[in-house]
Formats: sequence, structure tokens, C-alpha cells
Amino acid sequence: MSRVVVVGGGFGGTAAAARLAKQGHQVTLVERLDRLGGAVGFVEREGYRWDAGPTSTALPAVVRDLFRKSGRPLERELELVPVEPMREHRFEDGTVLAMPSGSRSAQLEAVDATLGAGLGQQWVDHVHAFADTWDVLRRVYLERPWSPDHVDKASAALLHTRTTLQKVVTRTLKDERLREVALLPTRLDGHDPRNVPAWMGMWAYVEQNFGVWTVPGGMGRLAAAMTKRLGERKVEVLLGTSAVDLRVHAGRVVGVDTDRGSLDADVVVVAIDPRGLPVLAPHVSRTMPAIPPVLCHLGLSGDLPDLPHEVVLHGDPTLVVRTNGTAPAGGAAWTVLGRGRLSEDVTVALARRGIDVRRQIEVRVDRSPRDQVEELAGSAYGMLWQGRTTIDRKLAATPYAGVYGVGAHAAAGAGLPFVGLSAAVAAERIGPA
Ligand SMILES: Cc1cc2nc3c(=O)[nH]c(=O)nc-3n(C[C@H](O)[C@H](O)[C@H](O)COP(=O)(O)OP(=O)(O)OC[C@H]3O[C@@H](n4cnc5c(N)ncnc54)[C@H](O)[C@@H]3O)c2cc1C
Repeated sequence: MSRVVVVGGGFGGTAAAARLAKQGHQVTLVERLDRLGGAVGFVEREGYRWDAGPTSTALPAVVRDLFRKSGRPLERELELVPVEPMREHRFEDGTVLAMPSGSRSAQLEAVDATLGAGLGQQWVDHVHAFADTWDVLRRVYLERPWSPDHVDKASAALLHTRTTLQKVVTRTLKDERLREVALLPTRLDGHDPRNVPAWMGMWAYVEQNFGVWTVPGGMGRLAAAMTKRLGERKVEVLLGTSAVDLRVHAGRVVGVDTDRGSLDADVVVVAIDPRGLPVLAPHVSRTMPAIPPVLCHLGLSGDLPDLPHEVVLHGDPTLVVRTNGTAPAGGAAWTVLGRGRLSEDVTVALARRGIDVRRQIEVRVDRSPRDQVEELAGSAYGMLWQGRTTIDRKLAATPYAGVYGVGAHAAAGAGLPFVGLSAAVAAERIGPA
């Protein structure tokens, strides 16, 4: 049995801890806050409750697999329900596209009907072009430990392509609105599509095929389910404890120093920004975090527009309204995310785009990008794409034996599916006790 220390109790760290404990290891998880979940959780104020971070997840199989492989299946803990439509896009020319979830033909019809005949086919062709990419990367990288010795040249070349997402989207989509739809996930995650490899476009394929899902009552409930799961698996959870560095001897990790003392370890799973640990920092010195969006949680009352789960107001700035918060009777709890040139109050910018709720605000909580990074001691959006070599920082097994990276900073991208997959791959690499 190995002594495993997991650093960071976000979705990445808790998922790795649950899997490794089930595999028979003795696991201790160190989390600097007084709760688990990291970006997953709730903000609560005066009877209103908003998801602090994620409000939905694509690829629900990742969460289901985690629960099944670490104990009782997800259905016994939480319900996952499809989000329909997946997202409503409102463009600057006034057109509105309610994009359906999980179906190629439904997306084709919706795009044709709202953006113009023929564009539906263009969209589904663009998305389908990523089917092979998804299939290859799933097998060699996303669901299996990457190993340059066992990967064929074509797959390695795909992952290290010079072609950017911006280039592919500009080439295959002639309609500016479809381009905005295609680039939205990347931009929302804080990246410039000119620095993102083309294969990240597979996200549209994943959403189209596997749908977008949420938890009734809020994705934040996942944090409580993970906390319970770690208790059932007898993971020792040290809350209010910060890892300050790793202890390394002769190239192998031997422990973790925390602000409350030292822990011995045979294996360490780093589920935080590795730049926060002096031993690892030099190996990721050229990386930068992807900056979170401006966030504004609004507690509303009175006569409100009936919006779907997520509405995207395209333009600069791009505003995203997520409506799944819970509110006292007759009210609504929305979260507005802002990206781009947001030089005025979020609610003013929202009103300019035709959603004016300024008179209905009962309570509001603003969380700047800086607030969010300070709260979690890092960006929940992980590493910024800075071109084709960024993947090598993410792939890099750390330079020390026994140290494994998981979470948004080590995964292909931010988001619960990538983060959850990174934990599954680390558990496979480490193997049973
Ligand atoms: C506003 C917002 C909206 C989002 N929306 C979505 C969405 O709709 N769908 C989706 O799939 N994803 C979404 N994401 C992304 C997703 O939430 C993250 O990618 C994911 O939760 C990251 O998990 P993580 O474990 O890697 O990191 P985090 O959640 O950041 O967890 C890291 C943890 O480590 C702790 N920590 C840091 N340093 C130390 C230390 N030195 N010692 C001990 N503990 C430490 C932190 O306190 C934190 O708890 C969103 C994120 C945000 C911020």
C-alpha cells in the first residue's frame, strides 16, 4: 500500500483521491480552504443561491465513471439531467439560435431555421470533422496515460499540430455567427483561439454527441457528493491546510510540507497550479494561467424574462447569463459572466443588449477575476494556451518520480470532463496498491 498525498481538493483532487482510495491506497488530501470542491460549490446570500463555478457538464460519462469506480453509482447520490436547449445564442444582428443538445440532426435543423438555409449543413460538417480527432485523442491521451513510446506518429502529430483552432474555424465556417459559436468555449475559458490547437475544436463534437447536463439544484451539489464519497472511502482530509512544497530525495518524492507540518508520501498528486510549489515551479515557469471571467451573481425579483439555462450575448464584450440558481418564491438567481472589453457595469452592458433587470435586483455579488484567483490560490481555468508547445507542459510527467499532475492545470483543458479524465488517467498510471 502506498501513502498518497493529494494536494488540492477541487474536482480534480477529490476525484483522484476517491479513485486511489478505492484502489487500496492510504490517501491523505490537503486543502487550504475549509471545504472541498474548489471552483465547484455555491455562493449564498439572503435566500439566493448560485453555482460559484460550473453550472453544467458535457460528457456526463466522466462523472458517472468516477462514482461507479469509487463506490456507489452516481444515480444513488445525484441526478444528472440534460440541458435543453444546450445554450441560446443571441447575435448582434438580432438573430437568435437555440442550439439543441446531443443531436446532429436537431442542430442542423435549428441552424438552418434561424441562421439561414444551408448553414446547418456547414455547421454539422464542421463538427463532424472532429469525430476522428476525438476518437484518436480519447485513445492515446484523454483516457489513457500518454506515452510517446506507444503512440503512433500520426496521433502525436495531431496533438502537436501547428494548425490553430482559429484557422480551422475561419476555413470551414463562412458565417461570422457560426464562427462565434465554434470559438465560444475557447474564448469563455479565457484563451485566444489563435494560440489554441485545432483539435480543441472537438469540444463541439463532444457537446453535440453526448449533450450538456446539469444537477437539479445546482452543480455545486457535486462538492457535497464528493465530500461524502471521500468519507466513505476513508480518505484523510486535512482542511485549512496549505501545501507549501514537495520534499524530494534523489529524484523521487518523499513527502509534502504543509503550513501545519510535514507529511510522508510515496506518491503525490498535484491538483493545483504547480507554480505554487517551489520544487515544481521552475518546470512550468513559462506557463501562465488562463484568467477567469468577470462574474456577477444577481438575486432578482418581480417580472423577469423567461430565459433558458444559458444565454450567450455575442459581441465584445461577450456576456453569458446562467439562470439555474435558486431563489425565494417569485425570484430568480442568475449569474452573468463577462469576457472581453467590459468597461461598464455588467448590468448596464446587459441592459444595452436588451436584458434590463437593473430595477429587479434584490442582492448582487460581484467576483472579479482577481477575487476568484485569490479565493482558490490559482485559476480554475488552468493553463493558458500559448501555442503548440503548451501541450508539452500539460503532458509532461513531472520531473520527479512519484509526482503526478491532475486538474485544470494538467488536463487538456478546463472543465469538469477534462479535469475528471485527468484524475482517471493519474489513477491508472499509479495503479492498484
Ligand atoms: C466561474 C466558472 C464557471 C465555470 N463553468 C464551468 C461549466 O459550466 N462547466 C465545466 O465543466 N466547467 C466549468 N468551469 C471550470 C471548472 O469549474 C474547473 O475547470 C474545475 O472545477 C477545476 O478543478 P480543479 O480541481 O482543477 O481546480 P480548482 O477547482 O481550482 O481546485 C483547486 C483546489 O486546490 C486548493 N489549493 C490551491 N493551492 C493549494 C495549496 N497550496 N495547498 C492546498 N490546497 C490548495 C484550492 O483552494 C482549491 O480548492 C468553470 C469555472 C469557473 C471559475
